[in-house]
Amino acid sequence: MAIQIYLDNNATTAIDPLVLDEMIPYFTTHYGNASSTNHLFGKRASAAVQKARERVADLLEAKDDEIVFTSGATESINFAIKGVYKRYSSIGNHIISCVTEHKSVLDVLRALEKNGAKVTYLPVDQHGNIDLEDLRKAITDKTILISLMFANNETGVIHPVKEIAEIAKENKVLFFCDATQAIGKVNVSMKELEIDMLALSAHKIYGPKGIGALYVRKKSRKIQLEPLILGGGQEKGLRGGTYNVPGIVGLGMACAICKETVKDEAKRMAKLRSYLETALLNIEETFVNSQDAKRLPNVSNTVIRFIKAEQLMASLKNVAMSSGSACATGSLDPSHVLMAMGLDKEDAHSSLRFSLGRFNKEAEIDLVIDMLNQKIKKLRAESPVWELYKKGLLA
Ligand code: PMP
Repeated sequence: MAIQIYLDNNATTAIDPLVLDEMIPYFTTHYGNASSTNHLFGKRASAAVQKARERVADLLEAKDDEIVFTSGATESINFAIKGVYKRYSSIGNHIISCVTEHKSVLDVLRALEKNGAKVTYLPVDQHGNIDLEDLRKAITDKTILISLMFANNETGVIHPVKEIAEIAKENKVLFFCDATQAIGKVNVSMKELEIDMLALSAHKIYGPKGIGALYVRKKSRKIQLEPLILGGGQEKGLRGGTYNVPGIVGLGMACAICKETVKDEAKRMAKLRSYLETALLNIEETFVNSQDAKRLPNVSNTVIRFIKAEQLMASLKNVAMSSGSACATGSLDPSHVLMAMGLDKEDAHSSLRFSLGRFNKEAEIDLVIDMLNQKIKKLRAESPVWELYKKGLLA
């Protein structure tokens, strides 16, 4: 089989071998139930869960009792948003979010709207940025929650999280942040940022799938979330169910590695991304979405005009990339994120997302650039629209 190059690290990541090594004993010899602490098997599992909790907290510069383990970011998001709404809807039913949030946030909000919630979806400008004035103006005496992501999965655009947290605090509104894409790519510190709740997921940071966490700040305000999953009393009654010990151990190790590497990796990713973008921008009729916004260092969302991203991906089967969000793949709708930024449908359908990761090397980027150049030339040569454009017959 031809070599495969993986540039879809925002969809998911390969497990780091060091993470896998750390997990394996918890499938084989240390298989105890972490709640059965009356024997050695359970004690070992319980100690491993605690160590992982400390590692997650350490990455976030948080306290270990502020971490609740979940099955991933989608559950953390459901837990945070529904948990706040159920507990506080008698005080107010208004939530503020944004049109470019991930579907796992938007779908929860839509479900709550059917139950009486009022949601303001902030718009974004052409770069994908929100206006903090819009946020300030949207807050009413009924607002209980602001739900804004740290960084966008499609474009990498980073929201002004520090300012959002300050506005939330000034107005005594809770702030939930979906940081699924930011963790491990940029510094995310609960000491520096007054975020109340934050979602993360192991499989985006070289850990296993099906495990994640919700950070819930204890100190400033006593957040009393309504649990989503009841049973067994685990996580102080906040999330029932037998602990997924190998998964939790994997998440902990993944966080420990991110803590060590995030600074250097951010620099390496930025360099690699810039190398890729320079080459892409050398191709006629290309531009980078959100190029002028503050972005994650590993993402490039690039428009290659007059070519459908799906078509290009189909002709380049040995390179894993994405057109729009992976979670929306299969649907023919253009990306809701790019449409919200004001791209026209054609350009949205011509957008390719490259998301680089820990295991990518410059040599792979060289190969991808060569392959892209060849395929783009070929597809455009076969395209009547391109021919019309070249003849100056298109507006
Ligand atoms: N939020 C964002 C921004 C994401 O990119 C994703 C994953 N595509 C999720 C939430 C959902 O994460 P999980 O797969 O852990 O449920």
